[in-house]
Amino acid sequence: MIDLILKKGKERSLLRRHPWVYDTAVQKLSGKPANGETVCVRSADKRFLAWAAYSEASTLRARCWSFDENEMINRDWIAAKIEKALAARAHLFERTSAVRVIFGEADQLPGLVVDRYGDWFVTQFQAAGVEAWREDIADILMQQPDIRGIFDRSDAATRHREGLTERVETLRGQEPPQEIEVIEDGVRYGVDVRKGHKTGFYIDQRESRLLAQRLAAEFKRRHGRGMRALNCFCYTGGFSLALLAGGAAEVVSVDSSEEALAMAARNAARNGFNDERAQWVQADVFEYLRRAREAGETFDLVILDPPKFASSHRHIDRAARAYKDINLNGLRLVAPGGDLLTFSCSGAIDVDLFQKVIAGAVIDSKREAWMVARLGAGCDHPLMMTCPEGEYLKGLQLTLR
Ligand code: SAH
Repeated sequence: MIDLILKKGKERSLLRRHPWVYDTAVQKLSGKPANGETVCVRSADKRFLAWAAYSEASTLRARCWSFDENEMINRDWIAAKIEKALAARAHLFERTSAVRVIFGEADQLPGLVVDRYGDWFVTQFQAAGVEAWREDIADILMQQPDIRGIFDRSDAATRHREGLTERVETLRGQEPPQEIEVIEDGVRYGVDVRKGHKTGFYIDQRESRLLAQRLAAEFKRRHGRGMRALNCFCYTGGFSLALLAGGAAEVVSVDSSEEALAMAARNAARNGFNDERAQWVQADVFEYLRRAREAGETFDLVILDPPKFASSHRHIDRAARAYKDINLNGLRLVAPGGDLLTFSCSGAIDVDLFQKVIAGAVIDSKREAWMVARLGAGCDHPLMMTCPEGEYLKGLQLTLR
């Protein structure tokens, strides 16, 4: 076993069980590990710290598997972690057939993402460590009951940083269909695991989709009519369909992608939602919001779930301005008593900054708003408390007074 010795003082984060070893923290190696090989991380005074996967090309030079010296990182260890991850999500299948069953660092399998859609697993191997165990991981997953196949969507840009090439292919079993149908909280969605964003679907927004569905239902009970809602950056219609399922009278959905909108319309048809209630608009959201305001439009609910505006800390200022812009113009369209659901999936923008940006938009809009809930990813995307970097999706529910 090769030792990776840290510089003096660099053991501190590992003693707090933070799982990443940066290249700048490494003093020396006792040999030349292969990419993904397990190494023993030691402090400058040679104390055991962790077992970790070595990554020769990444600034994240090693990612820890375990902080327990008595553990052996082998196939059985990996199998045990996978079983533990699956067991923690088993209850979710009562509600949905789209679940993130393995979420990297949170499941002690750094860099591995596995989503289940119906009878298929979709994998993303985003680090050299899990890549080295790829075949074992595939075999273990394939042993799960009722699994017809595994599709690998290892095309995330992060792979290049790990010295790995992109790969998109059927890894085990049957080829998945063009669109896998999943049912979440009573709503049907088609998922394109080959070309869709992430592994095909924004599984992480499950709780907020359910909130949207509930808000639409509650609105109808209270007002005796269905709500009029605007869903910006609708992608394949996640929030739109939830709103229609809840009884919204009219849902306007905006996205710049013709393909996404076409799939969203197909998803509406899957649920038998009639066309008059759903409007699919191909437009730039920044422009659409301005035009809607000029036209004097109002909505009982506005949803803003944009793509990641800040891909790193260097883009925070520009991203904050973009969030402010859409939130200011989005707020202006909310009818009195109506709600805004606003999100950011930029890891570089933390909860506090996001809340400040939204507060700035509220001030500029001259509206009075309550924050009635903080929103985030579902329990299948947990945050490992020792690795705060895992937090990325955050949202606020505001009620306009
Ligand atoms: N809310 C979606 C996920 C949003 S993904 C869901 O819950 O499923 C981001 C979406 O924003 C993508 O579909 C992309 O096509 C769209 N998009 C990106 N920039 C845009 C812009 N300026 N105007 C409109 N849509 C945009």
